[in-house]
Amino acid sequence: MNRRESLKLLAGAAGAVATGGLIGRPALAQTAPAQPSGPYKLPPLGYAYEALEPNIDAQTMTIHHQRHHGAYVNALNGLVGKYPELANASVVSAPETLLSDLAKVPLDVRTPVRNNLGGHWNHTFFWELMTPGGAKEPAGDLKAAIERDFKSGNEMMDKLNAAGLGRFGSGWAWLVVTKDKKLDVVNTPYQDTPHMELAAKPVVGVDVWEHAYYLKYQNRRGDYLKAWWNTVNWDKASENYKKAMA
Ligand code: MN
Repeated sequence: MNRRESLKLLAGAAGAVATGGLIGRPALAQTAPAQPSGPYKLPPLGYAYEALEPNIDAQTMTIHHQRHHGAYVNALNGLVGKYPELANASVVSAPETLLSDLAKVPLDVRTPVRNNLGGHWNHTFFWELMTPGGAKEPAGDLKAAIERDFKSGNEMMDKLNAAGLGRFGSGWAWLVVTKDKKLDVVNTPYQDTPHMELAAKPVVGVDVWEHAYYLKYQNRRGDYLKAWWNTVNWDKASENYKKAMA
């Protein structure tokens, strides 16, 4: 091999590395893509894509955040022309008010608003609820309420895992504060949030769409749910509880 040939080979290898070809993975940007124009933005994760390894792998986190959540954000920005109220600052900053009252959304855009504003809200909540650091178990008022309404933290987690496993197809499992200020475990289909049909406020929530776990866990949703608890930021859950009880 002459010098020119070896340089060509090296350039080819560098290209393969850049596109992920040598390790058999698609190339993924390690930083968030350019923000869309429009009132809705993809919120940054508060941690690195690999920070939740080994419970949730970096590739799943990257695709889930950039492409899945990104798609809900892009779709929302695309709906503003049909339903200008979506761009109101109060809706952008606190979508849960509109999600609690979807009947006020015109019928021709209600389903896409439900799916995409719900998806944006759910994912924003989900990213904030996970952390590589943070408290590893419930404390204070939340711990007391869990023990009052479920006997123990383990029983609550078992019930939530069962709710996640029991959601046929795509959806979410939740620990919520109900209308009568009790804790309960529920699940919701698609990107429905607990505010919609249940008028409940989420404390803890886990995405059980296959896109949230399939690359690492394939069909083993139960294994994903068990591992997912290791990522929960109980400080954030306590904050959610306090807000839900206010
Ligand atoms: Mn998702």
